[in-house]
Amino acid sequence: MSQFAVMGCPIDHSLSPVIHQAFGELVGRSVSYERRRVEAGGLAHALEAFAAQGGLGVNVTVPLKTEAFSLSRRLSSRALRAQAVNTVSWAEGAVVGDNTDGVGLIRDLRDNHGLALRGSRVLLVGAGGAAWGVVGPLLDEGVAQLAITNRTAARAQALVDSLGDVRASVFLADDGDKPFDYVINATAAGLSGALPALPETVFPGAVAYDLVYGPRAQGFLSHAQRCGARSALDGLGMLVEQAAESFFLWHGVRPPTEPVLQKLRMPS
Ligand code: NAP
Repeated sequence: MSQFAVMGCPIDHSLSPVIHQAFGELVGRSVSYERRRVEAGGLAHALEAFAAQGGLGVNVTVPLKTEAFSLSRRLSSRALRAQAVNTVSWAEGAVVGDNTDGVGLIRDLRDNHGLALRGSRVLLVGAGGAAWGVVGPLLDEGVAQLAITNRTAARAQALVDSLGDVRASVFLADDGDKPFDYVINATAAGLSGALPALPETVFPGAVAYDLVYGPRAQGFLSHAQRCGARSALDGLGMLVEQAAESFFLWHGVRPPTEPVLQKLRMPS
């Protein structure tokens, strides 16, 4: 049976094993997929040990995505743009890094929710690893404006500077005078029950999306709806779609995502 794992810390909450095993069943592959708790600084050793026991692929999550980027001997263009790796495989013994977060968000918005991004005004909140992963794919989808804001303003500026695209700018107070089509929360604020600071004027008519999923996304999504957002979506679909892309990289087969999403949405 081919062996895969997700590594990070904390890791107990990760749904990745459930998702990958469900994909395996749907496409008729036997997949062993486990969680491994790996703290910052421990990834090189953990990857080596996993490869030595026959491991074929690893998903990497907080706080290891930058570490995985540094350890990769080969990088996909998506990983290079994101400066972060969430999917590891091996080729001729060398670590190969890719990043499937951006494509996961786009497929969730576009394919699962039937939403168009072309020509839209997008406000992205956050400038951490997840934000770096999604900005390139959002621009590729043809958004007209990508305003970025972050609690630590200098990090938003650095992300805008890295893009070198006239459509990308740091969010200014005036930008909120005209509502956005999308307000995407790529911060970890929901994990601690906090809300990112935003003027209420950005929400009316917008699709509000939180990369966090489940109850921890509700604070932001309920607030957005109270401020007039037309719909409120959590990041579960993105999680499943980024996993599907990792599965495709490892197995060469694209699994159906809808049955897995339905299963995860069912009350337990
Ligand atoms: P990260 O690199 O640690 O960055 C965290 C970001 O959140 C930074 O922009 C940080 O701002 C901001 N932040 C943290 N606490 C905040 C608060 N209380 N108020 C306002 N801003 C706050 O983490 P990441 O990798 O970007 O991940 C961000 C979130 O996305 C995580 O919750 C993660 O679970 C989620 N995610 C979901 C998926 C999915 O598939 N659904 C994929 C990737 C990530 P500062 O710069 O000021 O610290």
